[in-house]
Amino acid sequence: MALWEFKNLNKHGNYRTRIIHTNGALSIPGSGFGHSIFARRFKYKYEHPVMPPTIFKHNGKTYLMPIWKEVIDGTTVDDIEWVKPKPKVKQEPVIETHTSSSSADKTYKTVYYPDSGKFYCDCPGRWRAFDNRCKHIKELELKVNK
Ligand SMILES: [Zn+2]
Repeated sequence: MALWEFKNLNKHGNYRTRIIHTNGALSIPGSGFGHSIFARRFKYKYEHPVMPPTIFKHNGKTYLMPIWKEVIDGTTVDDIEWVKPKPKVKQEPVIETHTSSSSADKTYKTVYYPDSGKFYCDCPGRWRAFDNRCKHIKELELKVNK
């Protein structure tokens, strides 16, 4: 069982598109359809992050649930392409640790926050630099902007 998107050129030279349901392989109907026929496996697109699509029959009609989209009779969940929207991933900060050049037990942390594009460093050089960008930040900038 499968759904097919089926196009054929009618006598006016226009393409007609239909979704048809077949049991087994697609059989092209007789000569009345002309010689320009296009068919491909068709799937309904369904978008939802977590709820799986289901098929529900009601009053002789077939619906794709839970969005109540009417689909052709014979549609099964195999004919549904479940598109899961990608959740926005929070980007993890980039953290570097530097040892102070004047005393080995002092370390400074340099952080880059990709979400905001901001840099942070807790070394004293940051306060000396007129633009608050110490050498660590400048180094990290070069790395992340590669
Ligand atoms: Zn620094």
